[in-house]
Amino acid sequence: MNLRADVISPLDMFKIGIGPSSSHTVGPMVAAYEFRNSIKEDLKVTSNKSEWHITVELYGSLSATGKGHATDGAVCAGLVGMIPKDADPDKVWQVKPDLDANPIVVIDGIEIGFKPENDIKFLGWMIDNQGLPHPNTMRFILKNGDEIVREDMWLSVGGGFVERYDTEAGKRISTNKWQNDAELPYPYDTAHEYIEQCKRSGLAPWQVVIANQEARGLSEKELRLKLGEILDVMEGCIDRGLREEGILPGGLNVRRRAKSLYEKLQSGSPPAWAGNDLRPSVYAMAVNEENAAGGKVVTAPTNGSSGLIPSVWRTLKETHDFSRETMENGLIVASVIGALVKVHASISGAEVGCQGEVGTSCAMAAAGAVAMLNGSVNQIEQAAEIGIEHHLGMTCDPIMGLVQVPCIERNAMGAVKALNAAALSLASDGNHLISLDKALSVMKQTGLDMNEKYKETSTGGLALG
Ligand code: SF4
Repeated sequence: MNLRADVISPLDMFKIGIGPSSSHTVGPMVAAYEFRNSIKEDLKVTSNKSEWHITVELYGSLSATGKGHATDGAVCAGLVGMIPKDADPDKVWQVKPDLDANPIVVIDGIEIGFKPENDIKFLGWMIDNQGLPHPNTMRFILKNGDEIVREDMWLSVGGGFVERYDTEAGKRISTNKWQNDAELPYPYDTAHEYIEQCKRSGLAPWQVVIANQEARGLSEKELRLKLGEILDVMEGCIDRGLREEGILPGGLNVRRRAKSLYEKLQSGSPPAWAGNDLRPSVYAMAVNEENAAGGKVVTAPTNGSSGLIPSVWRTLKETHDFSRETMENGLIVASVIGALVKVHASISGAEVGCQGEVGTSCAMAAAGAVAMLNGSVNQIEQAAEIGIEHHLGMTCDPIMGLVQVPCIERNAMGAVKALNAAALSLASDGNHLISLDKALSVMKQTGLDMNEKYKETSTGGLALG
């Protein structure tokens, strides 16, 4: 069954995780956690031999930039049973050094040999002499002595989403609940259909999503409860980022700037023409500095682009005194745009470059802002289209594979663009030349045409220094 935009929940798009990357940190941690669970049955099988051993192979972009993105540390955390949403970041990053010192993973009382510095292998762009099924491919191998007991391939497809790859059938298998085939009251798979459903039903743009999610078993109460937790993590992340200072980890010697910029802002020292408009930039940088430091963030839709939405929401809350419900409604509408991009283009920097991460986030933030400011569904679609259109072709070329340069400032720029896109659409009547659906097909094709070196490989562009 092809994935449709209307079944993707706001809780799929916004996931609490840890930095620095949703595709290279959160996804691999989830895949390792899933592999850990899947081998429990294998371990029960009695055998003459009991010399269990795990090897993890990282391919493609995970190999090229995995060290900078802490993929190895994330895999270790998943293998010992941690999942991103509940994990304490301080404990996550201690697992790998602990395993290097004492190379044993214990599952249901059974000891399995696993020494990260030897058993995590950073490999290339071919697997078994064939191309990769996805730029972010992993293979987990469980052995008993020399015998391979299980060999599973996993794909990290962006935004913390993972899929298992069935090598025999050549099929990608989602671990999400998307296979739920409940009939939806307001089905849509394109922006055009979403607009039509909103208009035909007379419902607010967020109510259409709520009704669909209720049909899939997620009540409005439960959805709002979880969105409240997500807003809390976003707020907490800005606050922490505005308090912390020092050098970010990874060896690039990037200094945290959000705190000192915020202090200047409060003392009124920015140039008069900049004024308070620096707020969205500073809030976005605060979040992305936290992300770069491996802290707790919300994928929005990815970790690399986690700063825009918290920043836009905080800025508008300060200027408009929004209620929590309004802010939740904004997240719901933003998630529709993220889902449309995921289905019709990609939210993975390794697949389509940074247009898929910061570009998508900008479109989501712009659409959510218009919804919170009571714009029409046409204005919501227009704002999202502006957000995407003006990121088309943006490459992903993080220096040293770290989610720092250009990522942190890129979120600041994206937040400003999102607010501008929202303002432009609110000042117009929602009629515009290029539809969001058209922009997404251009985005997908642009990503396909983009040279591999600009798709999260750190082998081109800014990454070359
Ligand atoms: S450049 Fe963009 S897509 Fe690439 S890692 Fe940074 S934020 Fe993500």
